[in-house]
Amino acid sequence: MLIDTHSHINIMVKKTFDTLMQAEDFINSRNIINEAATNNVTKLINVGTSLIESINCIELANRFENVYAAIGIHPNDLTGDWKKELNELKKELLNKKSNKIVAVGECGVDKHYPDFNLQRQEDAFKAQIELALENNLAIIVHSRDAYDETLKILEEYKNNNMRGVIHCFSEDLNFAKTTISWWFVIGIGGTLTYPKNNTLREVANTVSLNDIVLETDAPFLPSQSMRGKQNHPQNILIIAEYLAALRNISLDEVAKQTTDNVERIFRI
Ligand SMILES: [Zn+2]
Repeated sequence: MLIDTHSHINIMVKKTFDTLMQAEDFINSRNIINEAATNNVTKLINVGTSLIESINCIELANRFENVYAAIGIHPNDLTGDWKKELNELKKELLNKKSNKIVAVGECGVDKHYPDFNLQRQEDAFKAQIELALENNLAIIVHSRDAYDETLKILEEYKNNNMRGVIHCFSEDLNFAKTTISWWFVIGIGGTLTYPKNNTLREVANTVSLNDIVLETDAPFLPSQSMRGKQNHPQNILIIAEYLAALRNISLDEVAKQTTDNVERIFRI
């Protein structure tokens, strides 16, 4: 069995961001989930990026077996209303309409695009870490061009029984070792296959297999052989095969250990 710990099927099937999914979108989602299963990707977590998209993720989890949800607000999707939106997400957790919410995220710091509001990003990141801790959930961390900021904030909570994933890992070995010591695992996806990405290959080959989970980030970040196309949860197989070759171990070993890691971090 392989697990995609980070996909956005809700974004794959819709044309417009921040709209609720319609009946037809759920039919298309079913097709995507079935296609993934043909590659042995039989569990997946859809990750929220805004209030509405998080609600879509909860709906997908409610409708499909072996599909789970993470709810949160992405640093690039924070508005002046983020506190109100996060409160709505808190209500979703309290309602417990779905016990298939397994994480808070993706949340974090992203300094990639100009005009980011760092204070707002940091405040929202901390609030979402606290929401995860209060509910004993994993945290899915998005960190882009924010090495110091992410570490500084995570360090504040390091003794609070945190656990989670550094999603789309893009930092160095030192960052990996530090966050692993705080009970995080490293999310490895299609960027592992990019020709210039020796830093990620070094990390993926050096840390224990105990500390790695696989993710596609579909529809984003397809692996090298598919660049320019829409990514798909079924492509976890490509990443798993690539990681097995890199570490000179069997695909079975990668599948078994990364699946155990997902069960440990997300309790699924
Ligand atoms: Zn994502």
